[in-house]
Amino acid sequence: MIVEKAEEILKEYNLCNHCLGRAFGLLGKGNNYIRGRSIRLVLNMEKEAKGEGSIQEPQECELCGNVFKKTEHLARLCYDKVSKLGLEFESFLVGSKLPKEVVEKEQEIIEKFELKYAEPINRELNREIGKILELILQKPVNKSDPDVVFIVEPYSERVELQIKPLYIYGRYRKLIRGIPQTPLRGFKESVASIICKPFSEATKGKCVFHGAGREDIDVRMLGNGRPFVLEVKRPIKRRINLEKTAEEINRSGKVEVLGLRFINKEEAERILTSNHKKEYEALVYVEEGISREEVEKVVKALKGTIIHQRTPRRVLGRRADLVRVRKVHEAEGELVNERHFKLRLITDGGLYIKELISGDKGRTSPSVSEILGKKAWCEKLDVLNILDESENFING
Ligand SMILES: [Zn+2]
Repeated sequence: MIVEKAEEILKEYNLCNHCLGRAFGLLGKGNNYIRGRSIRLVLNMEKEAKGEGSIQEPQECELCGNVFKKTEHLARLCYDKVSKLGLEFESFLVGSKLPKEVVEKEQEIIEKFELKYAEPINRELNREIGKILELILQKPVNKSDPDVVFIVEPYSERVELQIKPLYIYGRYRKLIRGIPQTPLRGFKESVASIICKPFSEATKGKCVFHGAGREDIDVRMLGNGRPFVLEVKRPIKRRINLEKTAEEINRSGKVEVLGLRFINKEEAERILTSNHKKEYEALVYVEEGISREEVEKVVKALKGTIIHQRTPRRVLGRRADLVRVRKVHEAEGELVNERHFKLRLITDGGLYIKELISGDKGRTSPSVSEILGKKAWCEKLDVLNILDESENFING
């Protein structure tokens, strides 16, 4: 059956032993070259017995153009490419891009001869280059999660690298007011740029900052810090000393990072989508004046209360106009002087505090202004803590 089919194929197509073997590639053991050579040998023995001429391996294979004679050269190109870059990686995978004509011709042969056990050409090519690379790189092939994928174009001899991004988790504290979280026109620095700089330098990659939520420019982020994830695209170096990098960032005196560690993509997504509760301290200004009893009234009215907040006017251009429903979990107040009091809150993530105080012309309800029946204003705001799930406390 196999030998008959092989004869039919070889009568119409001049195939090398690799391509002949691959037509039956899912049967038996060994590589396709040995498989093809064996089938051809048996076929030629039968032909000789019948007094017919043999079918030798052609000078040039009409399917692959003898690409399998180039595997060592192609592996060498991959090796040169990463050596020149100084790329750090622990594992790799080989992929290949083949011209449409080759893929179509292979499909044509498979269909014409109903080859149920054929293996596609790119699978053999990837595997053969991979075997050689494992030897010269002294690193393993990793099919599920390689640090780098070599995309080989065997005919044009181009090699492209797909480098797995690095993901780093941490928390930041913003110690001063007046810097935006991410780059903004008119500001020289941002939390993101201060954190990213040493990472870009160390990895020689492109660093992208993702914060778990954000605070306004004039708001400090204190306490245990706000979670963030750094994504470093195309890192050339991936063995970075996180402690040293943290020290470098912390020397800025503006932003501090804590708890840096490497994470994977799934963890990064989970961190960025979970909605953390937050602890705030606001300095509230009441022009008409405020008493201790009124502070108590505000605290009582806010504690455990559900707030309906329509998207603040100041962010309307950037956010959809909708009503958010968020809870104030804890509230504490302290009179500072006849026009100021401090308000400490623990709220669901995504509640705008400045508007919770001002009321934003009735768009947030209830609000401090509404409770007092007087205009109240947030003069200063700090994020004291971003709480992990289950945490619920006011420190100090
Ligand atoms: Zn071939």
